[in-house]
Amino acid sequence: MRFPRFCACCMRDAETEIPLLYTRTKGVKVIRSKSITWPLPYCHTCISHINAWHRSSRNFKLALFSGLAFSCIFLFAGLLNTALTLSILSLLLALVARYKTRQNALALCTKECPTVHVAASYDGWSGSVHSFDFAHRNYAARFMQMNVNKLVNLNSEARAILESCLQDSTFANPKTEGLFLGSERNNKSDEDAGELFFQCVSKIERAKGPASRRAALDAGLQKLTDTELRRRLKVEATRIEVSTGLERMEKLKSRSSRARLLSSLRGYLSDETLPHDFRDEQIRWITETVMELEERERAGAA
Ligand SMILES: [Zn+2]
Ligand SMILES: [Zn+2]
Repeated sequence: MRFPRFCACCMRDAETEIPLLYTRTKGVKVIRSKSITWPLPYCHTCISHINAWHRSSRNFKLALFSGLAFSCIFLFAGLLNTALTLSILSLLLALVARYKTRQNALALCTKECPTVHVAASYDGWSGSVHSFDFAHRNYAARFMQMNVNKLVNLNSEARAILESCLQDSTFANPKTEGLFLGSERNNKSDEDAGELFFQCVSKIERAKGPASRRAALDAGLQKLTDTELRRRLKVEATRIEVSTGLERMEKLKSRSSRARLLSSLRGYLSDETLPHDFRDEQIRWITETVMELEERERAGAA
């Protein structure tokens, strides 16, 4: 995935980056968590309006808590009226201070800024499909252009943005011309291939049991003509097989059925055509799960 080198908020030159993070936890007995971070290009001005907005909430809480703490002191001293007046006053003061600092944060936004908050979110992943949400329409369009052969599952709004910017000749920018995938013909077929790829992945995900997942994979491989997409489909199918296998393993009680499942999972990963780092990662994941399960059993037996 590539991000256009503009600020995702105001679309001026990006001077730095901010992390877009998503953490997922999985598992019933053995909790596995995985985080993915993407570097989102940003400018210093836009970072300052985000920080100013966060500061206003922080200061509001701080003013309120210190006011209430003082009120408690008066309350314990038996000065009920003073405590009440002080807590009302501190609430009013905190509200006024928050309003002022929020106005300052808004004043830092340029007229291009679509929001005072972070202008994009990463909503996680399913297999190799990652979901993003951009507040700036033009940034979303440029991001889609740069990654056009990787787009899948576009909603109607995203599709409309992509189509309208392809028709808009003024949209091309000298800075991105090298990256600009302006050929509608290629774009259409790439988009179709991406859509087909996504359908194949969800068919494998929906299939019940290894045999029907294998059949769904074979059917998908027959439909896809692009070598890269075929390779990605194999990776996704293996990932799905391993993660469903590990979920099942956590529920298995007998050692022998667990060992059988383990050897079949290792069998999937023995495929030499799969990327090496992917295989290493999956093998590590399996080993960690097995070790944790055994440890848990030993602790249970002791
Ligand atoms: Zn900016
Ligand atoms: Zn901004």
